[in-house]
Amino acid sequence: MNNVPEHFGSMVFNDSVMKERLPKEIYKSLRSTIDNGTELDISVANIVANAMKDWAISKGATHFTHWFQPMTGITAEKHDSFISPQSDGRVIMEFSGKELVRGEPDASSFPSGGIRNTFEARGYTAWDPTSYAFIKDGSLYIPTAFCSYSGEVLDKKTPLLRSMEVINAQALRILKLFGDKVSTRVISTVGAEQEYFLIDKKLFDRRKDLIFTGRTLFGAKAPKGQELEDHYFGAIKPRISAYMKDLDEQLWALGILAKTKHNEVAPAQHELAPIFSTANVATDHNHLTMELMKRTADRHGLACLLHEKPFAGVNGSGKHNNWALSTNSGKNLFDPGKTPYENKQFLLFLCAVIKAVDDNQDLLRISVASAGNDHRLGANEAPPAIVSIFLGEELTGILEAIESGKEYTKVDAGKMMTGVQVLPDFHKDTTDRNRTSPFAFTGNKFEFRMLGSSFSISGPNIILNTIVGDVLGQFADRLEKASDFETELMALIKECISKHKRIIFNGNNYSAEWVEEAERRGLLNLKNTVDALPLFKSEKNVKLFTKHKIFTKTEIESRYEILIENYCKVLNIEALTMAEMVKKEILPAVFSYSRELAETVSLKKSIGIDIQDDAGVGLVSLLTKLANCLSRRVSELEDSLIAAYGINSILARAQFFRDTVASCMTEVRAVADELETIVASKYWPFPTYSDLLFNI
Ligand code: ADP
Ligand code: MG
Repeated sequence: MNNVPEHFGSMVFNDSVMKERLPKEIYKSLRSTIDNGTELDISVANIVANAMKDWAISKGATHFTHWFQPMTGITAEKHDSFISPQSDGRVIMEFSGKELVRGEPDASSFPSGGIRNTFEARGYTAWDPTSYAFIKDGSLYIPTAFCSYSGEVLDKKTPLLRSMEVINAQALRILKLFGDKVSTRVISTVGAEQEYFLIDKKLFDRRKDLIFTGRTLFGAKAPKGQELEDHYFGAIKPRISAYMKDLDEQLWALGILAKTKHNEVAPAQHELAPIFSTANVATDHNHLTMELMKRTADRHGLACLLHEKPFAGVNGSGKHNNWALSTNSGKNLFDPGKTPYENKQFLLFLCAVIKAVDDNQDLLRISVASAGNDHRLGANEAPPAIVSIFLGEELTGILEAIESGKEYTKVDAGKMMTGVQVLPDFHKDTTDRNRTSPFAFTGNKFEFRMLGSSFSISGPNIILNTIVGDVLGQFADRLEKASDFETELMALIKECISKHKRIIFNGNNYSAEWVEEAERRGLLNLKNTVDALPLFKSEKNVKLFTKHKIFTKTEIESRYEILIENYCKVLNIEALTMAEMVKKEILPAVFSYSRELAETVSLKKSIGIDIQDDAGVGLVSLLTKLANCLSRRVSELEDSLIAAYGINSILARAQFFRDTVASCMTEVRAVADELETIVASKYWPFPTYSDLLFNI
């Protein structure tokens, strides 16, 4: 690729294309819709639609699709061609403003968590003009929001856009108090670092567990894991490098700011990070990134695994959600500046986050809860399930000084002397990066590290925007009434620190001591999805979401249902896959190998060889013992599934899956993995961890 700037965004109907292809007045009107959320006139939409169509056709597109994010967690699309029949039997290419701004996909087959039963099946998609349309596979993609006929929200985008409005409105109130006269909009910005595994496609295809569940349900440890720490940032292999190059080029064409790529800690694990953008655009882009990662892998004979825990015993994959607030005048509200101690506005925004996170640990935890992520959180490779904030030495020192009313004296972290002439010495980062923290302040943004790799980042950002927006609103209520702003401001900051400092923790989040300490501090420790989800419906949360019009009570109930049902479905699919693999693949392999051994033994015996201490005899009897055990355990697993189906309450069923079905699965796996270590390779029915992790 020799001209990246020209290639970048070449498939996007972005600002420069709009400027070039739209009449000036129309452009201005659309721009105002994008920047200020003003309503779009249908006559304007008609002209925009026509320009979009002409542009799309010039790029080879024949179809358009509304592109939306239903509660499945992935994206959905339905393609219509631009053709419109004429009386003389020919067709012309048409695309109207109405088709651009509204679509009517059938909503009946998307998860609605019970909403569907009471309302009409029809759904609507509505254009989100703040996320640019783009071309992929010969279709013009129009990013949209998705709701039911009667207005219930059925997607992950609408609440995100609403939450962005909440934080915008509340943050502006605060800025006004500080005398900011230039900012008219506050935008939440997000950069999502994406982890993933790449394995050989031919091997992937031979594993039913990977195909059906995205993770390995069996697999003995390979002799080598990640213990030599030789993969992280290691040289990228040519085949992977070719894949990454291809992926970058496709992402760039779609205007996605793919920036950083490197090998991760586990073998076969990698990471891609974009440059941050507006929260809703970052969400759209992360969806596209995940989709293209999978598809590009296919083209390179690879399979891309986005599951949170594809392999036991090596690190799983997460997603780091970097989040900040920026004004339309270009100022990052979390930039502490050179003297954070004197930067009261920064300190107030910082306090808002501290209070929001402390008051809403439950919501942040829920926003990252899934069956897949349960394998990671708290497993000493990812943050624990306990939510806390890392602030670093300097900020913590400042807050302590304010609370105790003392002068703050800067701790000089000192220069890091590289000792090499040609390398510059640099200041030790006082926000020393604590990789174990679930929610870390990293210089001028917060990094929420609990997300699973396969997640839509929408959920966590809805929560972040809403909870911080809500607290900013509370602060504004109080400060707007104050007779003396400065005095009230300092009182508020001080009060906030004393009340919420328990959420700040700069130490090692993986340690056992922290779990105890967190309990003493009264912090929540919601160990798994089933523990976390019910809190979504609590009175506090219903009040919060309805107050800000993010979700109605019905929508909260329905989302809870969808999430908890999804948990049961995932475990059910895993259990069924496991049983099938044991019965159709593992046991038959063990029997074949046993037969070969037994035949050899009897042959030896028939020609008079002493088989008293024969290795084959011992092995056959061990194989038989283990096979019998495996067979019993699979029956127990199947019985547990039948019992699960009989439980009516969805919460009780989820608990049963978590406690009983999951432990039956662990038992099955233990025996199968032991068998893997003694069955001859040529009999073992699917690729092992050594094959999967070290073959590229
Ligand atoms: P690390 O892997 O050490 O956490 P990276 O540089 O890989 O750091 O990733 C940092 C991410 O944070 C990038 O996606 C970057 O664009 C994003 N980021 C930087 N500044 C902001 C900001 N103001 N708002 C949101 N995201 C940001
Ligand atoms: Mg990171």
